[in-house]
Amino acid sequence: MTTGYFPKREKVGLEDLFKGLVIASHILHYHGVLDAYGHISVRSPDNAKTFWMPCNIAPALVSSPDDLVEYNVEDATAVERDAKKGYLERHIHSEIYKRFPNVNAVVHSHCPEVLPYCISGVPLKASIHMAGFLGSSVPVWDASSHYASGSKHDLLVRDSQLGASLSAAFKPATSTGFIYSKFRSALPAQIGGSQEPDKEPNYAVVLMQGHGFTTHAHGIEEAVYQAIYTKQAAQAQTTALTIQNAHSGHTLEGKIDVEGGGKIKSAKVKAEGNLKYLSDNEAHDAWESNQGTVLRAWALWCREVEVHPLYKNDCPVCEDE
Ligand SMILES: [Zn+2]
Repeated sequence: MTTGYFPKREKVGLEDLFKGLVIASHILHYHGVLDAYGHISVRSPDNAKTFWMPCNIAPALVSSPDDLVEYNVEDATAVERDAKKGYLERHIHSEIYKRFPNVNAVVHSHCPEVLPYCISGVPLKASIHMAGFLGSSVPVWDASSHYASGSKHDLLVRDSQLGASLSAAFKPATSTGFIYSKFRSALPAQIGGSQEPDKEPNYAVVLMQGHGFTTHAHGIEEAVYQAIYTKQAAQAQTTALTIQNAHSGHTLEGKIDVEGGGKIKSAKVKAEGNLKYLSDNEAHDAWESNQGTVLRAWALWCREVEVHPLYKNDCPVCEDE
């Protein structure tokens, strides 16, 4: 058994895992991280070479173990021949599990609050303490130069070549600023610390050009936390940029060429003020402090979807030993 699964930290059976995966799908929908699209997966506790994720169904409608499919990490094929049809983009999950043996849960989202940072060139950074895991830079991966020849150029990660390219963006040859893997190696093992920083991704989140984002974690709860607070960080940053621009505007500095018809020469746009982002130190310490509180949020999120009539969870409850 591996640590870091729902709901027990050290040991978890498949029944618990299935219930957790269904709840996580509901939570991510409830919080607007997933809509009819996007998905969460979890590595099998007994076999690191397979993982589980919902079949091709809207996350809010996943309701029982029958909706879940086990896939091989090696090539994202279903373990069972008669498995239900799966998501095209399961290669995102398989290639991350393949590259990073310590990763046990992956979320992929097309969240609208995050999308502006996937198309504008404005970098998403940790601006709020709940999203320290973002650090001072979040890579943007662009599928356009990684399509297999003859494949569709529809931005979907529909094969292992694209999936491998995306997973490589989590640990590029050179990384700057807050490095997730270094941070991981400094944490106590009980809350997800890793003794193998070489096997940890350097980034917790990678944005996908014109598409969305993907995040990974050691367990389901943490992956859900990161997905929700990536959305909230993007919301806060966008709102702050908007009100700052409305309040301060921009000053144009330059010389007016009267003889040339009043054209402005050597103009320079000067932005008034800058957003205050978390320093690498603050991002590190904020994430370290929040690590121990993820289960408090998880308990609230579970209750929210439990009492909401949209979400059905028919997974059997595992009896405690
Ligand atoms: Zn997608």
